Amino acid sequence: PLKQDVDLRRVIDETLALRDYDLKLNNIRVERDFSEAFPHVIADSHQLEQVFLNIINNAVDAMLEGGRGGALRVSAGIDFEHDAALVEFRDSGPGIKEPKRIFDPFYTTKVVGKGTGLGLSICYGIVKEHGGDITAFNHAEGGAIFQVRLPLTAKAR
Ligand code: ADP
Ligand code: MG
Repeated sequence: PLKQDVDLRRVIDETLALRDYDLKLNNIRVERDFSEAFPHVIADSHQLEQVFLNIINNAVDAMLEGGRGGALRVSAGIDFEHDAALVEFRDSGPGIKEPKRIFDPFYTTKVVGKGTGLGLSICYGIVKEHGGDITAFNHAEGGAIFQVRLPLTAKAR
């Protein structure tokens, strides 16, 4: 994999642009919250795009279950406590049924043909390979939260 200095916010914007049409069509509002600080990481930007796309696709699937659109909040910044770049996706869907299992290969709650259960295990592998961490949990007020932490480049600090 080809790793270089990437601006996470640019990768997120490019990934969101890929789903822009479907998000609008399904009444899913996207709210961006990007910090002033520069979350730069050393990464293969195509692999990161794959990670963000899998998370966004899952969020869309989850919100469409309710059938009435929703909101996807995406934030990017620096987690000073962990000295890491932090990207967070929060959706207004029904939340995760079994958070402990979602990164397992082939774990899916979707109907046959709709899900392979591989998306998040691929995300997990890519993030780990970049020296980072991916976690997921449900928000107290509903919806799922996915957090991706990646080591900052020296430039970003
Ligand atoms: P797939 O999308 O093919 O089911 P994934 O590995 O991408 O496989 O996701 C595994 C499972 O994690 C999903 O089937 C779903 O149950 C759960 N999941 C992932 N993202 C969300 C989300 N945003 N809200 C609720 N559940 C989720
Ligand atoms: Mg998926």
